[in-house]
Amino acid sequence: MILRVILALLIAVHSSCQEHGAFKVFRVLPTTNQQLLQMIRLFETADTDRADFWHAPSVVNGTVDIMVAPEHTDQFRQYLEKHGYTFQVAIDDLHKLLIEKEGNLSTHSNDDAFFLKRLHDDVGFHSRLRMGEYYSYSVLSTWLERIAENMPDIAKLIKVGTTIEGRDILGLKFGKDTPDKKIVVIDAGIHAREWAAIHTASYFINLIVNGREEDPQIQNYLDNIVLYIIPVLNPDGYEYTRTDKTNPRARMWRKSRSPKACAFDGVRNSCCMGVDLNRNFDFRFSEIGASRYPCSEIYHGPSAFSEPESKAYSQFLTSLKGRLEAYITLHSYSQLWIYSYSHRKFTYAPDIEETRRVAAKAVQELGRMYGTKYRHGTGPEIICGSTDWAKETLKIKYSYTIELRPGYEEWNGFVLDKNQLIPTAKETWAGVTVVLDEVTNQWKSSRVRESELSRLRQEKCSDRLPGCAYWLQSSPNICRFSQSTMVRDCAKTCNLCHMIAV
Ligand SMILES: [Zn+2]
Repeated sequence: MILRVILALLIAVHSSCQEHGAFKVFRVLPTTNQQLLQMIRLFETADTDRADFWHAPSVVNGTVDIMVAPEHTDQFRQYLEKHGYTFQVAIDDLHKLLIEKEGNLSTHSNDDAFFLKRLHDDVGFHSRLRMGEYYSYSVLSTWLERIAENMPDIAKLIKVGTTIEGRDILGLKFGKDTPDKKIVVIDAGIHAREWAAIHTASYFINLIVNGREEDPQIQNYLDNIVLYIIPVLNPDGYEYTRTDKTNPRARMWRKSRSPKACAFDGVRNSCCMGVDLNRNFDFRFSEIGASRYPCSEIYHGPSAFSEPESKAYSQFLTSLKGRLEAYITLHSYSQLWIYSYSHRKFTYAPDIEETRRVAAKAVQELGRMYGTKYRHGTGPEIICGSTDWAKETLKIKYSYTIELRPGYEEWNGFVLDKNQLIPTAKETWAGVTVVLDEVTNQWKSSRVRESELSRLRQEKCSDRLPGCAYWLQSSPNICRFSQSTMVRDCAKTCNLCHMIAV
């Protein structure tokens, strides 16, 4: 609270003439425990506009990137100096960087109408979406709809739910569903500004739809597992980030677009829109790494699953319980392959060995493509997100959060260079196939085991006593009513071969 008051006063005193300055990103290094705690408090209480943390502070001597709006940069610098922080300005002018890195990207803002018309009217359906670009949500969702309409043998459209602004949260379901098959779910875009994650999930869809004939591995997945991909979990937020793409205030939006909520922060009543949907899950809700202030970028919302997006998504995942073997959520950035749990350090799920083994293999496979170095482990940031909820509530074997390129130490953060978009998606797919292979192979070998068992049962199946046929004739329900005895004595006559022990 004291910190908030100090910061608010600093801001009030100095809110002067910086209107036309630049958004900056400060790289701050907390070097003492006290500084770390101060940073964590700031992270949990600061208004996004004043200090938008691109990373949660987690350890002493671990850098933290913080975006600061032009009218607050002087005060923020003074604040850091006053408290003896080691820091540097990592991005001097974020607006300029956005123009440089993303300004020439074809984002289809003006072409949307034409693009949609083409998707609708082309003679013959073009399932291929040109990758290496960012598309509006309406283009992406029309694309998904058209795939499902035109390729019903491999994909079905699914609607997870509806957003607060009324958009459908859409995804595709791949593979023929049978009740015994295992399910894998991949999502992206729960955080609006993480465009590289949305691009990567779209790339996966493109690859499956268009690459399956040349790639036996993809056909193998289509035959043996059920795979859901939901490329944009927070379409309202995503569309908002596209409204003014070189304006950091819009482009760096992270939350949903839920209506304004207010909270008194010790100085004033602050009201802001949006909830961090990944902090709205019912796992250690509001306990740590989240904020109760609506103006914070990590605002957790009024209660667990208060938001239509996270509520619908949790219901969707819960409906798959029992068959859901892997859940992968794509975020950016840091190059990390994260498994549970992240709410407290050194806290693991009971099956950690297996989770870790597959993560290590995935990271190795990912790195084989371009040498990109990923680390794996429990989250370095203390948070409570969707994968931890899924791990605990749904007992999913492989539940991973992947933080894509760039690496933690790179300056550009969320602004991934255009040239890196496709390589990022490609290498991530290579890592993800390790998980998909694992699920596919385990299912296949369980099928082989089952068919071998059934063969052995048929071979061994016989009646132990000679009177079986007579008993059945005089008492037609005897097989059902005295099942365990009849499995032992009259398995063949009673058709109970599948129950005998082998
Ligand atoms: Zn994220």
